Amino acid sequence: MSNKIYSCEFFPPKSALGDQNLAATWETLREKNPAFFSVTYGAGGSTKEKTFTTVKRINDAGLKVAPHLSFGGDGGDAVIELLDQYREMGINRLVALRGDLPSGMGGSHLVYANELVTFIRQHSGDYFHIEVAAYPEIHPQAESFDKDLYYLKNKLDAGANSAITQYFYNPDAYFYFIDRCQAIGIDKPIVPGIMPITNFSNLARFSDACGAEIPRWMRKRLESFADDSDSILAFGVELVTDLCEKLLNGGAPGLHFYTMNKTEPTISIWNNLGLTST
Ligand code: FAD
Repeated sequence: MSNKIYSCEFFPPKSALGDQNLAATWETLREKNPAFFSVTYGAGGSTKEKTFTTVKRINDAGLKVAPHLSFGGDGGDAVIELLDQYREMGINRLVALRGDLPSGMGGSHLVYANELVTFIRQHSGDYFHIEVAAYPEIHPQAESFDKDLYYLKNKLDAGANSAITQYFYNPDAYFYFIDRCQAIGIDKPIVPGIMPITNFSNLARFSDACGAEIPRWMRKRLESFADDSDSILAFGVELVTDLCEKLLNGGAPGLHFYTMNKTEPTISIWNNLGLTST
């Protein structure tokens, strides 16, 4: 497993207490030596500054950080400013996205991720390692399965180095997706995004919105625990550990954990798997 990439994702906290808790989380997770911590970006400006300050704090703590970035409603100048600031800070990895605008802002300003990748390459050359998003269960707005794969290839061909997937719980969705990607000539790493389970109703709501499927058997089992959070956690750790094992044994090039800014259950799954990043 040694040349696989293991990473963690955070979102920018909204409060001073959230900032404090996040610092405690990264101090614990850093013991596991993840390849990088990524920080999500609120397209449309909602968490734009918060993303920057969170990235800066993680970078100042001496950790490798990968900011997420999208045009949102901004023009090229704002993106250039961020690219230059990140480069001056020594940050050399980005997650480039189209993003989603918050409801009420309309969708007309969204810039596709392939255009952002081209823009970054034009401005910063090969300096950044660029990650893009991939969707084994297909992006909810995709015209079709094949079109979504075509657009993934488009952003990788525009100069992205690798992709991180939306989360999923059916490993076959990932393996089938990888087969189809290879069939159209995609040969760059596609790292599965892993969503640990802590709360059923939030997970169900979020999954509906982003097009991730919760298999019926899993939904029924989680429903049966009602408010018993210890049982949900224990079931989730077992299930997600098993998913990760299948993915790694099947050749996945690493794992990217959506930590939701919490140490648990990511660290338990990490320990179960005995992961060590290079
Ligand atoms: P794109 O690759 O641009 O694709 C968007 C849709 O348009 C797809 O349906 C695709 O098939 C289609 N498409 C792509 N290119 C073209 C084209 N040239 N012409 C026509 N159609 C096209 N959201 C945030 O707001 N902030 C974050 O920090 C964030 N981080 C994420 C991290 C990961 C790993 C993942 C998987 C998702 C993340 N998201 C984030 C969610 C993401 O922004 C949404 O899923 C968004 O709707 C699509 O972004 P994208 O970069 O995948 O878009």
